[in-house]
Amino acid sequence: MLKLAGFIIGAVVGSFLGVCIHRIPRGESLIAPGSHCPKCGARLGAAELIPIIGYILVWGRCRHCRERVPLWHLILEVGSGLLFAKVLSSQGLTLSAINSLILISLAIVAAGIDSRHKIIPDSLTLPWMIVGLLMGAFSGGIQGIFSRALGVLALGGLVFLIAMVSRGGMGGGDIKFMALVGSFLGVPGGLASFAIACITGAIAGVILMALGIKSRRDEIPFGPFISLGTIITCVFSEQVISLVFPWLGL
Ligand SMILES: [Zn+2]
Repeated sequence: MLKLAGFIIGAVVGSFLGVCIHRIPRGESLIAPGSHCPKCGARLGAAELIPIIGYILVWGRCRHCRERVPLWHLILEVGSGLLFAKVLSSQGLTLSAINSLILISLAIVAAGIDSRHKIIPDSLTLPWMIVGLLMGAFSGGIQGIFSRALGVLALGGLVFLIAMVSRGGMGGGDIKFMALVGSFLGVPGGLASFAIACITGAIAGVILMALGIKSRRDEIPFGPFISLGTIITCVFSEQVISLVFPWLGL
């Protein structure tokens, strides 16, 4: 039951995250005007606003001008649905599940915006770090805040040092994004996320260069890999941390 509810909530949230990915970089309001076709401006009807079903009803095309609705909208809705279902069914309706779901949502938006615009807006990271610290306070009082503040400093500091040494490999957006992850997951979860980001980023870089899609000089945004590492860590928290950092004993 929680699985089905999680999927539905996740699909609805995923639909909103798609709006965020499209509008935040353009400086548009997230609420008004309502969802519309970016080409002809036609407003979406009630049925078309339903996640997943709306997409299938119009066969992925605007009803008025036949403009294609990008497939990533559907992937985002189904993907968010599956992630929410998995987190809620394995962690229950708990504070730690809500903590994971907020961070997963932020990570999805950051990945979407960074992969298209090569920036991670401050509005996605800075204010939400306070939310991360507050979630720590709700779950562990003063000690909860402390462990997450440590996560902010350690993860933000780590990426800051790497950015200084590598000169251009990682930017300010990545530093703040990693600090955000630290504010939600503390040091162990943050480090696990970063380790997965580095491994998957390196593998993707090698594959893209081998296929000739990217050259050595092309910059591949790192944010989507931080997102991937973060989402994997949130969904498989215990397994990931015990796998990546067995010596931490956490
Ligand atoms: Zn249209």
